[in-house]
Amino acid sequence: MQITNEDDLHNFVLNAPVGICILDAATLTCEIVNHHFLEATGKPKDAIYRKFYWDAFAEARFNDEAALNNAVKEGQTYYANGTELILVRHGEKEPALVTLIYSPVKNIDGKVTRVAVWVLESTRQKLDEKTLELQALNEEMATTNEELAATNEEFAAANEELASANEELAATNEELTETHASLQRSERLFRSIALNIPNSVVIVIDKNHRYVMVEGDLMDKMEYNRDDYEGKHPTEIGQTERYNASKHLYDRMMSGEKISVERRAATGEYYIVHLVPLKNDQGEVELGLVMAIDITVIKQAEERSAKLAAIVDSSDDAIIGKTLESVITSWNAAAERMFGYTAEEMIGETIYKLIPADRQDEEPLILSRLKSGERVEHFETKRVTKDGRLLDVSLTISPIKDAQDNIIGLSKIARDITESKMNEARKNDFIGMVSHELKTPLTSLSAIIQVSHAKLKNSDDRFMSGAMEKATRQVKRMTDMINGFLNISRLEAGKMLIEKQTFELGRLLQEILDETRLISTHTFSLEGCDHVTVNADRDKISSVVSNLVSNAIKYSPRGKLISIHCQTRGRMVIVSVNDEGMGIKPQDLGQIFDRYYRVETSHTKHISGFGIGLYLSSEIIKRHNGEIWVESESGKGSTFYFSLPLA
Ligand code: ADP
Repeated sequence: MQITNEDDLHNFVLNAPVGICILDAATLTCEIVNHHFLEATGKPKDAIYRKFYWDAFAEARFNDEAALNNAVKEGQTYYANGTELILVRHGEKEPALVTLIYSPVKNIDGKVTRVAVWVLESTRQKLDEKTLELQALNEEMATTNEELAATNEEFAAANEELASANEELAATNEELTETHASLQRSERLFRSIALNIPNSVVIVIDKNHRYVMVEGDLMDKMEYNRDDYEGKHPTEIGQTERYNASKHLYDRMMSGEKISVERRAATGEYYIVHLVPLKNDQGEVELGLVMAIDITVIKQAEERSAKLAAIVDSSDDAIIGKTLESVITSWNAAAERMFGYTAEEMIGETIYKLIPADRQDEEPLILSRLKSGERVEHFETKRVTKDGRLLDVSLTISPIKDAQDNIIGLSKIARDITESKMNEARKNDFIGMVSHELKTPLTSLSAIIQVSHAKLKNSDDRFMSGAMEKATRQVKRMTDMINGFLNISRLEAGKMLIEKQTFELGRLLQEILDETRLISTHTFSLEGCDHVTVNADRDKISSVVSNLVSNAIKYSPRGKLISIHCQTRGRMVIVSVNDEGMGIKPQDLGQIFDRYYRVETSHTKHISGFGIGLYLSSEIIKRHNGEIWVESESGKGSTFYFSLPLA
């Protein structure tokens, strides 16, 4: 650059659009500086103008001194583009991007007299470079972005997968929650079942014999308190002794065996202990269920029933259990001895096997009485043995009831009375024989007395006439008695024959009363019996009426009225004999028709009799298809009734 005029130089510098500072080449002091220079360097004018250059730019001296010297001494221009200068601008250190030029200014001799320092802020250029850099970076970023987008897509896909996995997890979670809830329900259910098995403790153990659960109403009694035993070993909770006694069973159970054992506690209780292996879906034993149930009551009942069974078995009477359908359910040793069949042969069979063909209708009658709750006692009948012998048996049959009073079966006690029957038959034969033998002399005696009585009736000898009357009465009593014995022996021997004929009942009754009046102090009345005709054994009916009339006389005070009454009802006639005597107490009413039954009172013990009259009468009436019964009030009198079919 050639500046010839000093003023020109000033103007040029001051108006230049770039920063210029003119230095004196010899002193390096600033001679001219423009506004752009000051702005670019950030220095006040007085820091530069007329100042030694390196004082003003001490911070740049290290870098640029050589370049400036070159410009001064060698006349070379120094050009530094985009130099980053650390300039102290406005008192603050800051980097500045500048294009710095040291340009020598020569005089006409070519000598460097001045140096022009050009400062051109190159921030723009630098920015462009930065922009390029940024563009490059941007491009890089774009590719990175693309990659990122791809990665993002992958992420999105992965995300979707994750979302569905999440959904699955949520579902699984729900299932797990549900499973957990259902497990809790199952556990509660299990516990409440365990708690409601009466008299029990239910224990679940794992493979290591550690408790999974302990529950039951016997926990306290078996010394388990209400602690949580889950995960604990029996030896950890003071159950060592019990555990040692059961360990081998636990081992067997965990190897798949199902075991039931009975245990007796030191305190006397009996327990049944069931050990059940619990298997998983694969069939492996996972847990063990130990259930102890107190069976003391059952055991005691068993003992009682064993004792009872021993008593039943040692009985001499046959004791047979049967259903309401007559099917045999139990059969004791005596039944085996008596009937010849073993229990195996008879249990499950019906009782009809023992009943003779002509008595098969007995069983339904007995059953109907039992079903109405009645007991059948001392029912004498015949039964047939395995070898076909007929046995005389006395049966007592009672209903067996459950706790609710329902009849659930029948117990039958059969006593073999064949022997006593034979003895009775012998006795009967004897009575029959004696009565028969007595009857012949008594008949002649009776005839003699009757004749004597007739002859002496009007005799002056009052004693003889009275004696004959008494003898007649006593002979009649004796005849009645002997006839009674004879009849009973015939009856017992099954030899009592009923020989029916048609006769007028009224006439028979009149005859009996006429005879009785002769020897009795009672008064008699007979009503409604005229023209009543029956078809019956006259002698036997006569003995029935005689018996009822003589009882009325025996059991009522002298002089009292005895009235006989007949009443026809349908095809039957009902005859009643009424007295005003002592009557019969209700408790005796049901038995007075039994053989040899007599009412025992201080009053009756002075009245002679054998208790066979009413028994004979009832047997005779039954054989005529009639009925006999009594109505009586103690202290007021009795009325005996019998019915007979009309002819
Ligand atoms: P007995 O020979 O003892 O009279 P019965 O068989 O004729 O035998 O009578 C049985 C029992 O019935 C008697 O012992 C008596 O106690 C009672 N009896 C019978 N008839 C009457 C009656 N008319 N009044 C009161 N008791 C009677």
